[in-house]
Amino acid sequence: MATTQKLMRAIRVFEFGGPEVLKLRSDVAVPVPQGHQVLIKVHACGVNPVETYIRSGAYSRKPVLPYTPGTDVAGVIESVGDSVSAFKKGDRVFCSNTVSGGYAEFALAADDTVYPLPETLDFRQGAALGIPYFTACRALFHSARVRAGESVLVHGASGGVGLASCQIARAHGLKVLGTAGSEEGKKLVLQNGAHEVFNHKEVNYIDKIEESAGIKQGGVDVIIEMLANKNLSHDLKLLSRGGRVIVVGCRGPIEINPRDTMAKETSIIGVSLFSSTKEEFQQFAGILQAGMEKGWLKPVIGYEYPLEKAAQAHEDIIHRSGKMGKMILVL
Ligand code: NAP
Repeated sequence: MATTQKLMRAIRVFEFGGPEVLKLRSDVAVPVPQGHQVLIKVHACGVNPVETYIRSGAYSRKPVLPYTPGTDVAGVIESVGDSVSAFKKGDRVFCSNTVSGGYAEFALAADDTVYPLPETLDFRQGAALGIPYFTACRALFHSARVRAGESVLVHGASGGVGLASCQIARAHGLKVLGTAGSEEGKKLVLQNGAHEVFNHKEVNYIDKIEESAGIKQGGVDVIIEMLANKNLSHDLKLLSRGGRVIVVGCRGPIEINPRDTMAKETSIIGVSLFSSTKEEFQQFAGILQAGMEKGWLKPVIGYEYPLEKAAQAHEDIIHRSGKMGKMILVL
């Protein structure tokens, strides 16, 4: 007897282009997990800037068309493949990647990219964990090799990666400075681990950072940079001896004077989350697990959209300033 295939609502991209290429379909087949895969009933999915770059077709990584975007899913396990032993139907989970795409009612994921979601966090918060928190861990621990007692400037602290970086850095004994582009954003950054906060829209804010008590003793040790094409030249002047700028976000070229790195022997280091090995993902997951257990890891949700407004979310994540935490789709 023929079985009827289950269908679901999902965003599909049939051609690369602007936000309008995100099409909501209700005839997408619900995938079936094989081997080490799990099927997750999606309750929320994070929206990340990288998903807009991929959608535009201008990014180094291009999925085969048509595809469903989204990697940062939180939800409940619906079914598991034959080789899965760590999860069962009904488990609350979040993930750091998907096989079939997260802007959908159901998402397939490999079991080694799936993690238990504690009851203390809701699904919206679970959807804020994936790319932002794993990137913050990679930037701070792998790229910057931060040590307790050092200072860190999170340059662009009010969004997904920024707030995650502030929470993690504060919990690990760093002196944390942050920036935001609005008064509300500044308050949020202070509430989430920063000792001091500055407004990156103010003309003289770099002078204010230079004057800050936090860096008077010779500069800031680490800068986690969300918009290097705007800030890299200033960053190099804010660093301490042996300081490091960690380039997390960059949307174009910038002119710098390499001489600015010489006297203080400073470094510029790029980050690519998806260059992390499986072992590194597990290491970062361990740090995040500890944060969830101890209670210092508390994702902040900003703008929320239903699945049918995915195109608006893509427009806003790039063009709407005054971030107030993580942008998510709620299903
Ligand atoms: P997001 O949630 O949209 O946040 C963007 C942040 O940038 C906000 O805090 C925003 O502040 C801030 N910003 C705006 N203008 C700024 C300026 N002139 N100087 C400094 N910061 C400024 O994005 P996200 O998810 O945190 O990602 C941030 C960047 O990192 C994006 O470019 C993303 O593509 C990149 N990223 C890279 C990796 C990687 O592996 N390398 C991984 C994840 C993300 P206001 O809105 O308050 O002005």
